[in-house]
Amino acid sequence: MLGDPVVVTASLLFIPITILVAAIVPGNVILPFGDLPTIGYYFANVKAAAERTKIPVVMHLDHGNSFAMAMQAFRAGYTSIMIDGSKLPFEENIDLTKSVVNVCHASNVPVEGELGKVGGKEDDLENDDDNPYTDPQEAKEFVERTGVDSLAIGIGTAHGVYKGIPKVNMEVLSAVRAVVDVPLVMHGTSGVPDEQVRDAVRRGICKVNYATDLRIAFTNGVKAYMNNNPNAFDPKKYSAPGMKEVTAYVAQKMQVVGSVGKA
Ligand SMILES: [Zn+2]
Repeated sequence: MLGDPVVVTASLLFIPITILVAAIVPGNVILPFGDLPTIGYYFANVKAAAERTKIPVVMHLDHGNSFAMAMQAFRAGYTSIMIDGSKLPFEENIDLTKSVVNVCHASNVPVEGELGKVGGKEDDLENDDDNPYTDPQEAKEFVERTGVDSLAIGIGTAHGVYKGIPKVNMEVLSAVRAVVDVPLVMHGTSGVPDEQVRDAVRRGICKVNYATDLRIAFTNGVKAYMNNNPNAFDPKKYSAPGMKEVTAYVAQKMQVVGSVGKA
């Protein structure tokens, strides 16, 4: 749903974008269709929006948590797939990631892996590891052995709402960048001050994931509308201001990451 204003804003600013679709897993099912149809359902929604614009849109599965889920997305037509084995021991993460890469690369579908920990909680993903940072030498070996096309790394960011002001570990980022040549990905970007985001992009982050802030923007728009119209009951009415907030937020962040006009 939040993909629509993202596509609209990107179209106006000529920005190539990646729409993330959260992996929906049992216990956190928000549509009563079960795993496979849910992945296909979201895909169809964003595809419809993407087909109405001239900018490049990537349909990306975010945090695929198993080989089966990655394959469901692959078969549904996703053009980019994340397999997140970061909670597994190093060798098992390599095995899982490589198994997904082997299938996806046969059809030229790129794969994002993750090494190190993104803290916090996003949907039912949870991490509270003591040392969240990605080891640069492990990252180098991971990329070489798995063949991933991009790598999400642990540099001190977390999913969800930050308690204080987050601090991205730029030294770890630069150290990983120095030995790994695939694009690097920062998760948990919501709430990270714009200056740090700009610095991270300068140091080699190629994709930033925002989720929580989009949810907050949407909800703020809805809340404001409901405060002024307490008797409103039509979702079309109160979701419009939510979408408007998301659009404004996305436009501002696209300036921050420097992607305006790149499509
Ligand atoms: Zn994430």
